[in-house]
Amino acid sequence: MSERNLVLLGPPGAGKGTQAERLVDDFDLPYYATGNILREAVEQETELGRKAKEYMEAGELVPDDLISEVIAERLDSGEADDGFLLDGFPRTIGQAEMLEKALDGRGRSLTAALLIDAPDVEVVRRLSGRRTCVKNNHVYHTDFDPPKNEGVCDQDGSRLVQRDDDKPETVRKRLQVYHDQTEPLIQWYEDRGLLRRFDGTREPEEVNSHIRATLATLALEAEI
Ligand code: ADP
Ligand code: ADP
Repeated sequence: MSERNLVLLGPPGAGKGTQAERLVDDFDLPYYATGNILREAVEQETELGRKAKEYMEAGELVPDDLISEVIAERLDSGEADDGFLLDGFPRTIGQAEMLEKALDGRGRSLTAALLIDAPDVEVVRRLSGRRTCVKNNHVYHTDFDPPKNEGVCDQDGSRLVQRDDDKPETVRKRLQVYHDQTEPLIQWYEDRGLLRRFDGTREPEEVNSHIRATLATLALEAEI
């Protein structure tokens, strides 16, 4: 079986985390969501967390070198040798170049960049109702995907909370940052023949089956 080295791309709220939950189950891949890693670091008041906190609260990106180090550590941990699913990284051309170089130096390469796209009005609607569980970051929505019992995670029983940066002013800032700094990556990956697009406005199950079909095709092509 060839490696599955994947990145998820798309605006905040497009459904990357929601799809990642399913893909991790489908393919048993180690999942690295830089937003989750950083929020945990902030909570635990590690050095990384202390450095990242202000940027995150303002809806800005943390500096490339800070986050690139986190990813390099994961690539060298041994658990990602057969593949990985990155969510929220890369977010700038600089980070994408770093990833390309890091993989190249290890004799590896990216399998695909999966773009889940959705227009601004839709992601604003989604982020304002997003709730995540404190234990494992399982994702819900107050209207589109409510838990069975209000405020409680269906999967692990932990409390559901709203992220501080899902407040309207910060959401607007994050979207602007996405359009300015992350959107150029779409063309960057397109130029390398790695981009695969998915319509994030579809139902989660439909998006999942499109992604699975694409990954199945890529696996077949890799075997030929
Ligand atoms: P979303 O899932 O809504 O797109 P994330 O959870 O990925 O948001 O990210 C939350 C915040 O963490 C970002 O606004 C940014 O401050 C920081 N962050 C996460 N990943 C990166 C990254 N690759 N580079 C710089 N900052 C990042
Ligand atoms: P991202 O990781 O891209 O920031 P999330 O997966 O956290 O996005 O999803 C953002 C919000 O939108 C969550 O509240 C989630 O329940 C909801 N959501 C995700 N995918 C869909 C979808 N296809 N249709 C409607 N709501 C969705």
